[in-house]
Amino acid sequence: FLKGKTAIVTGSTSGIGLAYAQALAAEGAQVMINGFGDAGEIEKERAALEKTSGKALYDAADMTKPDEIAAMVQRCHDELGGPDIVIANAGIQHVAKIEDFPPEKFEAIIRINMSSAWYLYRAAVPFMKAKKWGRIIATASAHSLVASPNKTAYVMAKHGIAGLTKTLALEVATDGITVNCISPGYVWTPLVEHQIPDTMASRGLSREQVINDVLLDAQPTKEFVTAEQVAGLAVYLCRDEAKSITGTNLSMDGGWTAA
Ligand code: NAD
Repeated sequence: FLKGKTAIVTGSTSGIGLAYAQALAAEGAQVMINGFGDAGEIEKERAALEKTSGKALYDAADMTKPDEIAAMVQRCHDELGGPDIVIANAGIQHVAKIEDFPPEKFEAIIRINMSSAWYLYRAAVPFMKAKKWGRIIATASAHSLVASPNKTAYVMAKHGIAGLTKTLALEVATDGITVNCISPGYVWTPLVEHQIPDTMASRGLSREQVINDVLLDAQPTKEFVTAEQVAGLAVYLCRDEAKSITGTNLSMDGGWTAA
């Protein structure tokens, strides 16, 4: 049902972003992927997406650089049309007590996880307004609603995404554009895997203790959310049936924020 539509997914060389790109392409959307990683792997991913939906591009824009974000959106418009759908998904994590938190890590998290969404939306909205149709989605997090210790920058950034979602939804409410964010609990991706050593160190725990007592402790289902489940919700938000869902923060967290 997305034939003729174009999507940009930031941070789509891995994890949840890759699942969004695959799910949108499976519905016929032409996708522009973005993110870092091994050039050969990225090209393999791009070629596979292109096989699925006809055309796929990779753009290496660094989400810490506003001018590269704007250029990525313009390139999408020039080479694919659109963008009709943008998903602000790129994100990093760092786990440390505030007094040990390196300021450069703090700045990187705020830029990549939060400010990049603002620049992405700013560049994309005029193209969506011109078509009177658009879907704007961010991957927020359960941490856009609740906090965990030692994640000051991440929790700040994700709460910011929730505020951006609500505000922009009001601004474009009569333009055929919806703006929402999805707030997963723990999804098993490289981002989660990489924070295990730091959490082991900052809390003095073993790997098994971090997985069972810290990560899954918060999730009543005691199961990781999957990237495919998150992507399925994003695809639903692109449907016409979802046109009245706007300004919302949709939890997919195994019951975490109900507790
Ligand atoms: P991941 O590490 O698998 O993927 C992150 C992606 O962001 C990669 O493609 C990476 O190359 C890209 N990226 C990092 N820095 C970038 C930069 N400067 N410019 C462009 N791209 C950059 O992580 P993931 O778990 O798939 O996370 C995706 C999003 O989901 C993040 O915003 C994260 O906060 C959010 N999230 C993840 C979980 C989870 O449990 N994994 C839970 C809630 C929310």
